[in-house]
Amino acid sequence: MKFVGAHVSAAGGVENAPLNAHKLGATAFALFTKNQRQWQAKPLTDNNISLFKERCEQYGYKPEQILPHDSYLINLGHPEQEALDKSRNAFVDEIERCMQLGLDRLNFHPGSHLKKLDIAECLKRISESINMALDQTEGVIAVIENTAGQGSNLGWRFEELAEIIDRVEDKSRVGICLDTCHTFAAGYDLRTTETCEKTFAEFEQLVGFNYLKGMHLNDSKCELGSRKDRHQSLGQGEIGWNLFKYIMSDDRFNGVPMVLETIDETRWADEIEALKMMQ
Ligand SMILES: [Zn+2]
Ligand SMILES: [Zn+2]
Repeated sequence: MKFVGAHVSAAGGVENAPLNAHKLGATAFALFTKNQRQWQAKPLTDNNISLFKERCEQYGYKPEQILPHDSYLINLGHPEQEALDKSRNAFVDEIERCMQLGLDRLNFHPGSHLKKLDIAECLKRISESINMALDQTEGVIAVIENTAGQGSNLGWRFEELAEIIDRVEDKSRVGICLDTCHTFAAGYDLRTTETCEKTFAEFEQLVGFNYLKGMHLNDSKCELGSRKDRHQSLGQGEIGWNLFKYIMSDDRFNGVPMVLETIDETRWADEIEALKMMQ
């Protein structure tokens, strides 16, 4: 079973996300549970929570079809202690919001060394941050998103993802979200069936599909290995439709939320429909 959808708006309250997803014909969705560009957020109200759960039930969205995304401000590998602590606290708050909503996973970007910390040290710090957050919470899987490797963002090479996971104590509560644009920008070719086979075999060998807890389905505006994070509508970028056909017909991608973050929201319903047809 494939779950496909988009990162939908939660403007006006988290309870609007399942409604927005349903309108697109989606069988999965992503959302921010708070404003992604601010540190502080109002706590979720009982009304937000009960309406969210009610609508998920009504439209048939189970936790494994929903991929909440944390704030862009959080850097779990921050080189400076004060900012690191701020990020760690905010991350716990994000997990707690997921717990309140009955969700079982939280997607986040691993972290950046900001050229002030070496890569190995920063990766260690990220694992430590995950361990601390998991200790203080329960029931939610920390889902690390692979990055395009832009700037000092870590987690673009599969080896780095594996290294982070390796130091996480509770392996049952850590996972990976593969973003197809980021994967391609990081230098993993996905344009043909042969290159998809090779890239995903490498992922299986270094990380493992058992850790796959979500996908971001995006084409890429920039070329292979550009290390630039620029999403494009499906089939309109450097990757092309073949990858998405490949994913939709491969059982390794079953049972996880696969969400569009493509640039033209007006195409989402059509993109979702096209993906469903490829199963
Ligand atoms: Zn993404
Ligand atoms: Zn991106």
